[in-house]
Amino acid sequence: MGKHIQAIRGMHDILPEAVAAWHRIEDTARRILAAYGYAEIRTPILEVTDLFKRSIGEVTDIVEKEMYSFEDRNGESLSLRPEGTASCVRAAIEHGLLVQPQRLWYRGPMFRHERPQRGRYRQFNQIGAEVFGLTGPDIDLELILLTARLWRALGLNGLRLEINSLGDPDERRLYREELVTYLEARREDLDAESLRRLHTNPLRVLDSKHPQTQKIVADAPTLMDHLGEDSLAHFQGMRHGLDQAGIPYRLNPRLVRGLDYYNRTVFEWITEDLGAQGTVCAGGRYDGLVEQLGGRATPAVGFALGLERLVELLALAGHAGEPAVHAYLVAVGDQAQLEAPLLAERLRDLLPRLRLVAHCGGGSFKSQFKKADRSGATFALVLGEAEIAKGIVGVKPLRDESDQQELGFDDLVDFLSREIESPD
Ligand code: ATP
Ligand code: MG
Repeated sequence: MGKHIQAIRGMHDILPEAVAAWHRIEDTARRILAAYGYAEIRTPILEVTDLFKRSIGEVTDIVEKEMYSFEDRNGESLSLRPEGTASCVRAAIEHGLLVQPQRLWYRGPMFRHERPQRGRYRQFNQIGAEVFGLTGPDIDLELILLTARLWRALGLNGLRLEINSLGDPDERRLYREELVTYLEARREDLDAESLRRLHTNPLRVLDSKHPQTQKIVADAPTLMDHLGEDSLAHFQGMRHGLDQAGIPYRLNPRLVRGLDYYNRTVFEWITEDLGAQGTVCAGGRYDGLVEQLGGRATPAVGFALGLERLVELLALAGHAGEPAVHAYLVAVGDQAQLEAPLLAERLRDLLPRLRLVAHCGGGSFKSQFKKADRSGATFALVLGEAEIAKGIVGVKPLRDESDQQELGFDDLVDFLSREIESPD
């Protein structure tokens, strides 16, 4: 026999027992995004490599070393998308969506050739939102409020918001020069990676993980002190909104984000519960990108959240999702085996949201209960000769010690409809 073929390192199967948590996040996010008037957009997973080089930036981790790029049969360089913003912008330009403001969202797998570890994979999933055509701090605020609502709906209380402003390109250019001068004077103490970045992408030195470099950076000049009047007013406007909405945040002058295209507002939602990979959602404004990719100058702002990290957080918080199955119908005896599918159909007609597994294949009470238990169902519904004779169905709770009941059909429908009411 041949060797087992395994999944690619850093790319994971999501097994049935984990799917409830995924659904919970995806369904909640979709509901909230729709409630704010965001429309879903679906773009291809493959794009021409140039799209990412021109948007994310040549001197970024992603483009330098993380992309899955290859030549297709026509010799064109294509890449698996490492993020969703570039594709959204390309599609919005290509289809003329930018003639009016747009609120868009997307979800799906992204690909980056990083070192796999907890919370960091080579195929991972994001949900993201992008807004085009709106310049003010009100829309930046809306995006943050939307994500805050999502955390509340998911019952996640431990996330911390960090914000910063990267100013406008001119302000950043001046700051960049000052930062390079500061770092130049201390170059012998910088780590190799930061030294390499010193002239290509010095802002990235600010979020170096290297302890020695972090010490140097702690006293470096900050961008916040270089903001002009308009950038400052924009930032204050957003902060005012956060204060009014009662959303606590921390100013982090070293929050620069890994992608080149951001300006003004940047933000991250961070947890302490996932070890080193603590950022679950990151976003910001990127007013220059549409024009950079050949579209008419259009302001833009967005965020992306990492689903794997959220799924792990939900599991830690102990609310991974609804049970996969509400009830498992046990049918013992020839007559019950024939009647059970019909009973199940009547229940499904009246309770469209009921998740009911009807046992098939016969077997003893004992073996059927074992399957009921393994299904994860909250209740076993029992139909045997005695129940048929009495015109009732037995209801046996499988997850707690509450009493067994015998219910007629109408009472059973009432009972199940109360049980399947969703908590959110
Ligand atoms: P990090 O600093 O963790 O590498 P990033 O700045 O590269 O993050 P973004 O490109 O902003 O991340 O992506 C937004 C979110 O997507 C991240 O906050 C994270 O939750 C998730 N994410 C990014 N890369 C990965 C990955 N390799 N595996 C799993 N999730 C990821
Ligand atoms: Mg990264």
